[in-house]
Amino acid sequence: DKQLRYQVFNRFMLDHYQRKRLLAGRLQELLAEPHNSELYLCYQPIIDISQPQRLGAELLIRWNHPELNFIDPPDIIEIAEENGLGEKLSEWLFHRMQHDIARFPADTLRHLHLSINLSSSIFNHHLANHVCNWLQDGPLPASQLILELTENIALEDVQLSRKIFSQLREKQIRITLDDFGTGWSSFSYLKDLSFDKLKIDKSFIRHLDRDKRLPLFVQAITGLSHQLGISVVAEGVETESELSKVLEIGANEIQGYYYSRPLSADAFLDYARHYLAS
Ligand code: C2E
Ligand code: CA
Ligand code: CA
Ligand code: CA
Repeated sequence: DKQLRYQVFNRFMLDHYQRKRLLAGRLQELLAEPHNSELYLCYQPIIDISQPQRLGAELLIRWNHPELNFIDPPDIIEIAEENGLGEKLSEWLFHRMQHDIARFPADTLRHLHLSINLSSSIFNHHLANHVCNWLQDGPLPASQLILELTENIALEDVQLSRKIFSQLREKQIRITLDDFGTGWSSFSYLKDLSFDKLKIDKSFIRHLDRDKRLPLFVQAITGLSHQLGISVVAEGVETESELSKVLEIGANEIQGYYYSRPLSADAFLDYARHYLAS
C-alpha cells in the first residue's frame, strides 16, 4: 500500500492545490497522535551570554512526510491555519514538548528555558488559560516558558493584546517579539506592548560583517530595547565574526548555527548536559 501510494505520487505530479489538500488531511491525522515519528520537534539552543547557568532553546516543528519528504515549516503552519487546525497544532506542540522533556533529568531541566512559536489564531483571550492547561501535569514550570509572537498577530485591538499579555505575566510566562524588523509595524509593537525579549531577525545578522549599514540598525534596535528594559536575542549567528559583532553591539542571547543547528530532543539533552557541566 505504501509502495502503491509512492507510485501514484510519481505518476501524477500534484499541483499546488492537491498537495495542500493531501497535506491538510494527513496533518489532521498526525495531530491526533502526539507521539508519531512523522511530525516532531527540534530544539535549537539559545545561549544567554551573562547567565551561563541557564540554557534556552527554541522549539521548531519538523514534518518528514513519507512521500513528499520534509515540508517547509512555514507551510505546515499555513496549512494548519487555513484548515482551522491552529489550536490543535498548538496543543500538539505543548504535548509533544512535555513528552520529549519528561525523560530529562530534573537537575538539567531546571536550567532550561523553552521558547514556543505561537500561531496567530490562538492569540485570543483564552491564550493564558489554554497554555496553563497544556502545561498542567507536565514537567515544565510556566516560569521557564517563553512565547514567541511575530508581527502578524493582531494588533488592531491594543487593549485586548495588553490584557492577554498581563494574563500571561500573571502566570509568569514571558513573551518575545519575534522576527523584529521584517514587518510593517515593528515600532508600534514596541510602543504599545511590553515584551520581555526582542529577537532581531536573521536577515539583519546574515551580512552584518559585510554590509556597513546593517550594524547601525542592529545597534539602534539593541539600544532602544535596552532602554525599554527588553533583552535582545540575535538569531542566525553563523560565524565567529558575526558573533563578535553582535556581542560588541550588546546582544544578550545568541541563537544560530555557530553554536548549534536545531537538534532532536535526545541530541539537545546531550548538548544541555555538556553545556551546563562546562
Ligand atoms: P523563526 O521563528 O524565525 O525560526 C528560526 C528559523 O531560523 C528556523 O527555521 C531555524 O532553523 C533557522 N535558523 C536558526 N539559526 C540559523 C542560522 O544560523 N542560519 C540560518 N540560515 N538559519 C537559522 P525553520 O525551523 O525552518 O523555521 C522557519 C519558520 O517556521 C520559523 O521561523 C517559524 O516562523 C516557523 N515555525 C517553525 N516551527 C514552528 C512552530 O512550531 N510553530 C509556529 N507557529 N511556527 C513555527
Ligand atoms: Ca521564532
Ligand atoms: Ca526569524
Ligand atoms: Ca554570514
